[in-house]
Amino acid sequence: MKIFKSAKSVQNYILSLKRQGRRIGFVPTMGCLHDGHLSLIKRARKDNDVVVLSIFINPIQFGPNEDYKHYPRSLKMDLMLARNGGVDVVYYPDSREMYTEDHCTYVEVNGISEVLCGEFRPGHFKGVTTVCAKLFNIVQPDIVYLGKKDYQQAIIIKQMVKNLNMPLRIKIVPIVREKDGLAISSRNRNLTKGNRKQALVIFKSLQTVRGLVKDGVKDTGKIKSKVENIISNMPGIKVEYIRVVDLKLLQPVAVIKKPVLLAIVVWIKKVRLIDNIILKP
Ligand code: AMP
Repeated sequence: MKIFKSAKSVQNYILSLKRQGRRIGFVPTMGCLHDGHLSLIKRARKDNDVVVLSIFINPIQFGPNEDYKHYPRSLKMDLMLARNGGVDVVYYPDSREMYTEDHCTYVEVNGISEVLCGEFRPGHFKGVTTVCAKLFNIVQPDIVYLGKKDYQQAIIIKQMVKNLNMPLRIKIVPIVREKDGLAISSRNRNLTKGNRKQALVIFKSLQTVRGLVKDGVKDTGKIKSKVENIISNMPGIKVEYIRVVDLKLLQPVAVIKKPVLLAIVVWIKKVRLIDNIILKP
């Protein structure tokens, strides 16, 4: 496994592989690797000749009062997991090289970046799309693997790729959950044992409403109140939002006629947890 820190060196290396006709799969991450990331790597391994992983905690996607400083970091372990997972190239940039003093170019996807998480984290997706545009230019992948856990992020990046004619494909990979249903996230490491138990109520509420929709409930007002009720019964959890939206533009849906996204964000103490499911009528 090769490890690069500089953009030029990783770009040159990958360009030389591309010239030999190798297909490049790319998994961008913020590190602190877990089974969710590993499923993206596995998928990339299956489809490509070369698997590139980036590890970069992107400062410009964090707001001033967010957890950039406390975001979990575990480089040594990450490199071991990457190696065992079959990664060929790790790109581990330095943020001073990524954002030089004269950095003044940003990529914004309007509309879908301003709803859901965008409402509560202004500027977040601008940071995400900017870093992805940079990473895609540096790595020049054929296929990029993103997790459905961050559904909004995945479709924003897909839209950017389409609108900017980037020569790559996006594959969205299902959410990997712990045995008890909690969506795996690097931020779970910042939960205490007790908080970890409280967090189970998120998946429980999603499963309950999936059952309701199966039984014929179509009114999303009822669905949202059910989720809200289940979560409010668990002390110590604060809901940021619960929304039922269409899969493309992420606009609110009142009556479920085709598959929709139920997206939820909660806070347990200082930890922000995000989850979603697709509800099918
Ligand atoms: P992150 O390191 O949190 O920025 O995540 C890097 C990539 O892994 C993103 O595309 C995420 O959507 C994806 N990811 C994170 N957690 C999971 C999970 N539990 N299941 C599937 N993909 C995930």
